[in-house]
Amino acid sequence: MHELSVCQALISQVEELAQREMVQRVERVRVGIGPLSGVEPQLLQHAYPLAAAGTLAENSELEIENRPIRVHCPTCGKTSDANASRLLCAHCGDWQTTLVSGDELMLLQVEFIRETDNV
Ligand SMILES: [Zn+2]
Repeated sequence: MHELSVCQALISQVEELAQREMVQRVERVRVGIGPLSGVEPQLLQHAYPLAAAGTLAENSELEIENRPIRVHCPTCGKTSDANASRLLCAHCGDWQTTLVSGDELMLLQVEFIRETDNV
């Protein structure tokens, strides 16, 4: 299952951050996913608890933010929103556009639980 390995990669990033921050628990992880990333947000959501089990991110919440598809048009020099199946320039209709965003999968934010205060 592709999404599970994506989750595992994500969680190792989160654990690295947690170690740097010297925290033991993760509360919430926010990722941005573009429609062209090849990752299905719903499947990612399902795979997350499996990948998180036994890690610092166990029982944390995964929040997925859908990223827009944006293309840049070399013909008219503008950037516009595009559709996953038709990467056309919204301004002049040119199809020879360059993808600016929409294929990314990135860690946006990680919230940790700090337990040092309530011992
Ligand atoms: Zn254009």
